[in-house]
Amino acid sequence: MTDKKEREDQTASSETKGSSRRQFMATAAVTSVGLVAACSQSADEPSAPTAANVGGGSDYDVIVIGGGMAGCAAARETSKAGLRTVLLEARNRLGGRTYYAPFGDKKVELGGNYIYWLQPHVWAEVDRYALPIGDSPAAVNPDRWIYLKDGKPVEADIPTFWPKVDQGLIDFCANSREVFPRPYDTFFTDNWKPYQELSIQDRIDQLGLEEDVELAVNAIWSIMSHAKCSDGGFLEMLRWWAALGSNSIDFNNAVSRYKLDNGTSSLINAMIDDGSAEVKLSTPVSRIEQSGDSVRVTTEDGQTLTAKRVIVSTPLNTWADIEYDPQISDVKLQVSQERHVGNGNKLHIMTKQDIGNVFLTADDSFGPLQYGYTYTTGPEGTHMLSYGLDGMFDVNNLETVSDMINLFMPEVEVTKTYGYQWALDPFSKGTWCTLRPHQFALVPELQRPEGNIRFATSDNATMWRGWIDGAIEIGTRTGQIYAQELA
Ligand SMILES: Cc1cc2nc3c(=O)[nH]c(=O)nc-3n(C[C@H](O)[C@H](O)[C@H](O)COP(=O)(O)OP(=O)(O)OC[C@H]3O[C@@H](n4cnc5c(N)ncnc54)[C@H](O)[C@@H]3O)c2cc1C
Repeated sequence: MTDKKEREDQTASSETKGSSRRQFMATAAVTSVGLVAACSQSADEPSAPTAANVGGGSDYDVIVIGGGMAGCAAARETSKAGLRTVLLEARNRLGGRTYYAPFGDKKVELGGNYIYWLQPHVWAEVDRYALPIGDSPAAVNPDRWIYLKDGKPVEADIPTFWPKVDQGLIDFCANSREVFPRPYDTFFTDNWKPYQELSIQDRIDQLGLEEDVELAVNAIWSIMSHAKCSDGGFLEMLRWWAALGSNSIDFNNAVSRYKLDNGTSSLINAMIDDGSAEVKLSTPVSRIEQSGDSVRVTTEDGQTLTAKRVIVSTPLNTWADIEYDPQISDVKLQVSQERHVGNGNKLHIMTKQDIGNVFLTADDSFGPLQYGYTYTTGPEGTHMLSYGLDGMFDVNNLETVSDMINLFMPEVEVTKTYGYQWALDPFSKGTWCTLRPHQFALVPELQRPEGNIRFATSDNATMWRGWIDGAIEIGTRTGQIYAQELA
């Protein structure tokens, strides 16, 4: 069992370069010795199960694999329902693709950050635990907008440029209400079917936008999908727009404004503290076997645990890294192996000068940055956030990051930079989920249980797939399903 202080140990792991799970664990172990020791001292440690356990009595009612937002929500539900629950997390921290980490004298989000009141599952958590909300209005109210065209910076005239770009976004999503009349029941009608092979770029091409407007619209959708516009599915973006009431004001507020003031870890901790699940960190799972009424889970270090039900809350792109017996469906395996397309960088940048409220964009032909903006600014300098599609971009290299920023603003001096290389982390293999066009129709299969196993991650959620809200939606629902089944 871990205590709150240990869970809050958000040791920065950006030094991790290994791409294999074994290399990653070797590096992680250096920073997690204390956590491993704490876990192994747990008074609630189960005795080593034997083969006889499979099909007979189980060590637990529910094993949850993965301690991101989805896994923590699921473990809360099952443990609060009185089910003996253990949560097995591969890394030395909870939070998954949310990561509230120290940066200089403050803490910043290296992963998921923004939430909004039109995301009902996460907002219910805000209410439930009285979590304070932070506001960074600079992102939606820039004084300067600089975009790259043929590799050169162009200063936009915001009063004339933004309305055209805004109209481009509105036109892109023109049929959102018709296609998704009930965004939380995406398959309520078949109106999505004519669009199921359409990529984001296919849709942009239909609009006939003027060149500079298209550069901006491409930049915005490529960063929303965290993928080249030719790779991400149009329906993935359309669904969000529909859920936000089909307007750009709520869209802008939802994607870059409101956040948890005390960090995403405040929500993770609240969910874990609310339940009574046993938490084991630094415990990657390698195999899941089902036999009769019991499921046996084997960890990379050879421990076995049994339970009546298992919830796999690991990222879609890593599902195929676990062995299953019997094998899970071909569709689940294939989608995991071909991966969703969300991948790239997010970084925090400090500049020496106060550069005011700036907004930077570049279309998806420029890898390092599609979308950058002022987060906070003042006499001590400006804190910028930037997002790009190049997952291998050296986010912690001051010279590389300075060169990138100086392409837009040659006069600006970058003093600090900080990011996490999600693409290199074997326990995420990417960032937020955007499905490829043809994968949209496969969501019901990605949600279908496999015997006594259910998959529950933001990546197979129904509405805010790819977001914190989606993780809580499916994690909560899955935990409640098992709570009812085992009551
Ligand atoms: C850079 C970035 C920016 C983002 N921005 C936003 C945003 O502003 N707003 C928003 O709502 N969302 C955002 N997201 C997306 C959001 O963070 C995720 O969709 C959500 O947190 C995913 O939660 P999850 O629980 O489904 O998966 P994860 O958080 O990935 O959790 C899965 C857990 O499973 C563990 N695991 C993996 N394999 C194993 C194994 N074999 N055994 C045991 N454990 C394993 C992982 O270590 C991880 O802890 C962002 C994500 C990133 C990366």
